[in-house]
Amino acid sequence: MKQLTRLACLLLTALLLLGSFSLQFTPDLSGVKLQEGLVEYSDGSTEPADNYRTWYEIFVYSFCDSDGDGIGDLQGVISKLDYLQELGVNGIWLMPIHPSPTYHKYDVTDYYAIDPQYGTMADFEALMEQCRERDISVILDLVLNHTGVDHPWFREAEAYLRSLEPGREPDAAQCPYVDYYFFSSSQVNGDYYGVEGTDWFYEGKFWSGMPDLNLENEDLREEIRNIMAFWMEKGVVGFRLDAAKEYFSGQPSRNIQVLNFLTQTAKSINPDAYLVAEVWEGFSTIADYYQSGIPSLFNFAFGDSSGKITAVLRAVDNEKTVSSFATAQEKADKAYRANNPDYIDAPFLSNHDTGRIAGFCNREENKMKLAAAMNLMMSGSAFVYYGEELGMAGSGNDPSKRAPMLWNEARDAGTTNPPPECQLPEEYPLGSLEIQREQEYSIFRYYQQAIALRREHPVISHGIPTAETALNVNCVSATRKTWGEESCLILMNISTEEKQCDLTGYEAFTLAGKLTVDERGVTQIGNQLILPPYAVAVLCN
Ligand code: CA
Repeated sequence: MKQLTRLACLLLTALLLLGSFSLQFTPDLSGVKLQEGLVEYSDGSTEPADNYRTWYEIFVYSFCDSDGDGIGDLQGVISKLDYLQELGVNGIWLMPIHPSPTYHKYDVTDYYAIDPQYGTMADFEALMEQCRERDISVILDLVLNHTGVDHPWFREAEAYLRSLEPGREPDAAQCPYVDYYFFSSSQVNGDYYGVEGTDWFYEGKFWSGMPDLNLENEDLREEIRNIMAFWMEKGVVGFRLDAAKEYFSGQPSRNIQVLNFLTQTAKSINPDAYLVAEVWEGFSTIADYYQSGIPSLFNFAFGDSSGKITAVLRAVDNEKTVSSFATAQEKADKAYRANNPDYIDAPFLSNHDTGRIAGFCNREENKMKLAAAMNLMMSGSAFVYYGEELGMAGSGNDPSKRAPMLWNEARDAGTTNPPPECQLPEEYPLGSLEIQREQEYSIFRYYQQAIALRREHPVISHGIPTAETALNVNCVSATRKTWGEESCLILMNISTEEKQCDLTGYEAFTLAGKLTVDERGVTQIGNQLILPPYAVAVLCN
């Protein structure tokens, strides 16, 4: 297998060199699932058939518009699958696609349908078929903390409460939906809102338009089972679980129970199901949540503006901070693995709720590239938020973090209108995809290379990370990954100066790949490996 992947690596390099300025690199990846959990592609390369993937988060509204109404849609996503393969990702997280009155669609009114703004069920089925052919896995955003107020469950519960004589307790035998939500005769706290025409209140943690669901209710759990089965039968491999720490706000042990139920349920439908939950917390709380048995939790300890990756990039040339990148990976892995030996880490840089990496790095392109490498060289399932591969900017209010994808300079051909209230950045200095495709050292080309490296060497995603302190060079982060008999060393020069690493004692490792921010390459002279500023080297045994 290793020889095959090496061959594929050489082929890829040759293709990249040949196609330098007409880079429409679309590998033919019609995969065939083999025995022993491998997929073999028509180009001869193989990789594990599992949920360790490079996932791409798509906000359908802002991604690609196929019919000219200015709103992105599923046909638009289908039309960009070639692009996603050109980029190299092999998984898609679709933000909510169910009917909803808002642009963001986190207030669902029907879990079994497609929002008409995005298309039809036939469009969704066409998307699934295309993704199957390309071995692109799909997960859907499953918003279970709350529904929209317009969901029939909530409307029926409200109508029932209005029909009750004052002073009478609601009876779930008459209306089961009163137990789907948290209704109370008093305003328990500031997250409760009045039910119109009654003396009752309901909980809406995020907003009055999103009443919280009671995920311990058995009837509701049966509905969730049906919803999961419905979409998994259509081919999705699983779900991204929104706002899991607010299922029962401030009560992690109950949330862990709910996540355990959701994991068991998904795996009873498909043993290979993949779930990744949003628990926006530091690493020790994330570790606790792995007790649920869920495959993945987003690694907020490394992502967002307060995470480890940004902290390191803000302290380039600072040895102490730089070395903490490797030790933090080791520490997080140990803590997560202790609670779920089969966990799959889920690193990311940004998402639809955070600012974009361009802002975290003061738009310094070299740091943005290194951020991409730090994310994509981490173990687990790496997530990339659409537009990060172009270095798009976006911060401030939520819509501004969800701006239209920059396909071309003319902003036509699939470009969407900004969502309501979106404040577009004054400029995008790095340019659109159209421009970046033609530039050898664009951030887009850097992402392509980093993702290709990740795919060619599954030890990068599957390996257990440890800090390689014996390879100590000032401001070079050194991580070893071990996966069965395979291992690799990932060296990152997180400084503005050239660094030299002495590889004496590491003769079993050979240079398998490198990522550089400009024309200065990584060179090896004897046992000395020379890394220009911000360069990354991957050595495999
Ligand atoms: Ca449209």
